[in-house]
Amino acid sequence: APEREILTWELFGTASRELTTQIVESGWIPELIIAIARGGLIPAGAISYAMDVKACGTMNVEFYTGVGQTLEEPVLLPPLMDVSAMNGKRVLVVDDVADSGKTLKMVMDLIATHGLSLDGEAPVKVDARCAVIYKKPVSIIEPDYVWRDTDKWINFPWSTLPIITA
Ligand code: 5GP
Repeated sequence: APEREILTWELFGTASRELTTQIVESGWIPELIIAIARGGLIPAGAISYAMDVKACGTMNVEFYTGVGQTLEEPVLLPPLMDVSAMNGKRVLVVDDVADSGKTLKMVMDLIATHGLSLDGEAPVKVDARCAVIYKKPVSIIEPDYVWRDTDKWINFPWSTLPIITA
């Protein structure tokens, strides 16, 4: 079996504190935190508590269907976030990993361009940045905040154990 990067719950606790420290020390404090579901849900929650930012939202994107198995492109799934709620705000987008980076890029592009086509109205700027626990070398996007770099498949604590069924 190929070597894996193992993130334990214990190490996740450290990772989320250190990633938050990085963000806070950059002097940029978000007004809204957006988790990319599902991988970014738990990291976003940990970061939101660590920096006491209470406004949280999610964008639901599906790309991977198995280990190394993907759809052709990431797909935005319901429920859809009202992106206009981000207008004029500092928004932190959080995901577990930028692997190909396609998911994060799709979300960042969507946020950056959503206001531009509303006819007759001035474009609304969203000051969006993104944070990930891991970044892989192949990523097409350079996240603003990264905890660790790896080229291995990562086992996250929330998606490694068997699924519970009745
Ligand atoms: P990307 O679009 O950057 O290729 O990856 C999108 C999503 O696929 C990530 O947010 C994550 O949920 C999943 N993914 C990508 N690489 C890995 C990995 O090494 N391990 C796990 N468990 N999930 C991954």
